[in-house]
Amino acid sequence: MVIRAFAALLCLVNGLSIAVHAQADTAAINAHHGVILQYHHISNRTPASTSLAPKVFRQHLEILRDEGYRVKPLPELVAALQQGKPLPDRTVVITFDDAYDDIVKTAAPMLAEFGFPFTVFISTDFVDRHQPGYMSWDQLRTLQQSGVTLANHTRSHLHLLRQPEGVSDRQWLDTLRGEVDGAEQRIKDETGEHWRYFAYPYGEADDAIVKAIQSWGYVGFGQQSGAVDKRLLASGMAPRFPFNQMYQDLADFRLKASSLPLPVLEERAPGVVFDVATVPELALTLAPHQRTLTCFASGQGAINAIKQKDGRYLITGNRPIEVGRSRYNCTLPVAGQPGRFHWYSRMWIRKQNDGSWYPEP
Ligand SMILES: [Zn+2]
Repeated sequence: MVIRAFAALLCLVNGLSIAVHAQADTAAINAHHGVILQYHHISNRTPASTSLAPKVFRQHLEILRDEGYRVKPLPELVAALQQGKPLPDRTVVITFDDAYDDIVKTAAPMLAEFGFPFTVFISTDFVDRHQPGYMSWDQLRTLQQSGVTLANHTRSHLHLLRQPEGVSDRQWLDTLRGEVDGAEQRIKDETGEHWRYFAYPYGEADDAIVKAIQSWGYVGFGQQSGAVDKRLLASGMAPRFPFNQMYQDLADFRLKASSLPLPVLEERAPGVVFDVATVPELALTLAPHQRTLTCFASGQGAINAIKQKDGRYLITGNRPIEVGRSRYNCTLPVAGQPGRFHWYSRMWIRKQNDGSWYPEP
C-alpha cells in the first residue's frame, strides 16, 4: 500500500492528482463493501445450472488466496456493514445454498486446506427427511464445530412468489412465516445456531415479501449479482454472485470477486414479476462519476443506458424479457483501479403467456 501510494506521488503532475490518489488509497484500506459468492454443488455429477467442478472451485480458492482477497465469515461482513466499520478491500464471503452432501465431502476439505470460513444455507425439511444427496444434521454439526456458519433457506425450498389461487395474502404470509421461522427453529434445535440470516430460494421475492421477512427480523440474501454495502444489506435482499458451470470462466470470477457496489442514489423499477411481454424500464441516479455506465440483459447482450438531462440513467432492454428469471446488469469502471468495476444487478421474473408459472428446471 505504502509503495503504491509512493508510486502514485511520483506520477503527480499537479495538486488535484494528489487528492485523487490519496482518496483511492484510503478507500483501499477502508472499504465499506464486500462480495458474497454463492455456490450450490461442488461436483462433476450434478446438474450444470447448480454445479461447479471441484477443479474450478479450487481455482477460485487459489485466486482468493493469491490475489489479495480476505475471506471472512458472513457474520463478520454483516456486522461490519451494519455498524459502519471499515473492512479490508477485496473482502469476500463464501456461501453454499441447500446443504448438498458434496459440500461436506468435496468443498469443505478444500476450504479447510485454504483456511477459508463459509456459510451453508439449509432447507431443513430435506435434512430432516434424510433425503439422499443432502447433508445430515451430524454432518452439519461437524462443519459447525470447524467454524462454519449455518443459516436459513426455508423448510421446503418453496417458491415464495407462487401464492396458490384462493389463498389470501394473509394466509400466504402465514405459510411463509411458518417456512422461515420453522427452519430457523430446526437449525436452532439441532445446532444452537440462530443468526436470522435468510437466503431466498431461487433468489425470488417481491417487495412485499422482502418487507415481511425483514419485519420478522431476518437479514435476506438474494441471487441477483453484485457487491454488497450497508444500503444493499438494509434493502432486505443483499446481492450474491452465483457461480455454476455457465459462469466458470476465471476472468469472469476475478471481475466479480473484485467488484464494488454501484454508487446508486436512487432507483426506480416497475416491480419484479410480469405477466405479459414487457421491456422493463429501470431508472438509476448515481453519485457523480467520470466513467461510462454499461448495461446488459440476460440473453440480449448490451442494452440501452441513456443519461437524461436530469442526470438519471434510463435503462431498457432491446426486447421483452424472456419467460423465467432474467436480469439487467450494469457496470461502471472504478476510477484509478483498472480492471475493477462497480456492479449492479436487478432481477426480473416473467410468468408464461397464459399467466401460469414456468416450470423450474
Ligand atoms: Zn436453494
